[in-house]
Amino acid sequence: MNEARFEIAVLRGDGIGVDVTDATLAVVNAARGRVGGFQLACQDLLGGAGYFKETGRDMAPGAEDAAGNADAILMGAIGLPAIRHSDGTEISPHLRLREKFQLYAGVRPVRAYPNSPQRLADPRAADIDMIILRESTEGLFYSAAVHDRSPVANDDEVQDILRITRPTTEKLHDFAFRLAKKRKERGGKGMVTCVDKANVFRSMAFFRQIFDERAQAFPDVQKTYSYVDAQALEFVRRPWDFDVLVMENMFGDILSDLGGGLVGGMGMAACAEVGDSHALFQPAHGSAPDIMGQDKANPLAAILSGAMMLDYLADRAGNQSLADAAQLIETAVYDGFDANRLRPMEFGGDMGTKAVTNTVIDVISSIPVSDVTS
Ligand code: ATP
Repeated sequence: MNEARFEIAVLRGDGIGVDVTDATLAVVNAARGRVGGFQLACQDLLGGAGYFKETGRDMAPGAEDAAGNADAILMGAIGLPAIRHSDGTEISPHLRLREKFQLYAGVRPVRAYPNSPQRLADPRAADIDMIILRESTEGLFYSAAVHDRSPVANDDEVQDILRITRPTTEKLHDFAFRLAKKRKERGGKGMVTCVDKANVFRSMAFFRQIFDERAQAFPDVQKTYSYVDAQALEFVRRPWDFDVLVMENMFGDILSDLGGGLVGGMGMAACAEVGDSHALFQPAHGSAPDIMGQDKANPLAAILSGAMMLDYLADRAGNQSLADAAQLIETAVYDGFDANRLRPMEFGGDMGTKAVTNTVIDVISSIPVSDVTS
């Protein structure tokens, strides 16, 4: 029987990006081996800060087009603080890819796993399970992706633009409501919180106005509001009460690090960046030069991003095997923590990148496939 075949563009990037991408591919392959029903054809693309240092380009010629032609892009991490453009900013071709492929929906799950560090003393912290939906093409990153968009940039003053557009914001809010609805069908709260600063900025009032407009099409999803400063407080006081939180680009950038911290650290912060016809999957953390090359990185954020990639391909292709493989990986990570078999160094444990990866693969091989097939 011919199995469905998907093209994956793989950009490992810099620092620990290389190690966590290798870990992800190994785990995805193990899940595919258990479930069958699809093939992944991976094409390696070169790019990143290291590549820039050698060649003066942040991505290899043709790599952007190859990424655009693939069914999904899998990325490790890009950027090294010591290697910068002349204006002081880091090498960040991924910002251009977000822009080029209009990857407006940055999906960042924040979930507490058993036996992983709970940064809050309240036992309800074990129930944290939310999604930060970060708009990823405009907001305050609008002029970061394309530098000459800054209206003023001279020796005396530099300005950046915070841009909110109706078409992107409508799609973003629809994405948030659809996500909350899907989560509700699986036992979630069915709630979307609009996080903004609508009391101060016109752009943010506009963001909230569109939220209200789009909410009308989703009467079975509860809508709530929060100002971003208050939301930072609520993340420390009662993060277990939230479900899907939708927000502007910079707010999402900041709150998703806080979210990652709530459930252990950046090594748990998975991420999908989804547009209408392309999607990129990468952990929300950076290249972590302080621990690179030492087998210390926690690969689980990348591995869980890989599971999100399979889920995305499953939805687009209507392929149940891909959805089962994604579920198998998520179950293996959960079960691995539950049985105290996953003890990443990031959490003070004894397991480096390779040991964590091999353990996830071991757990995958021990889960009856019938447990995850629906
Ligand atoms: P960026 O701006 O590119 O997101 P950053 O400067 O915020 O990057 P990171 O590279 O994400 O920084 O690292 C922040 C801290 O988190 C560092 O101390 C790093 O070692 C740690 N860290 C990040 N990712 C991991 C991981 N996968 N495993 C263990 N520690 C990590």
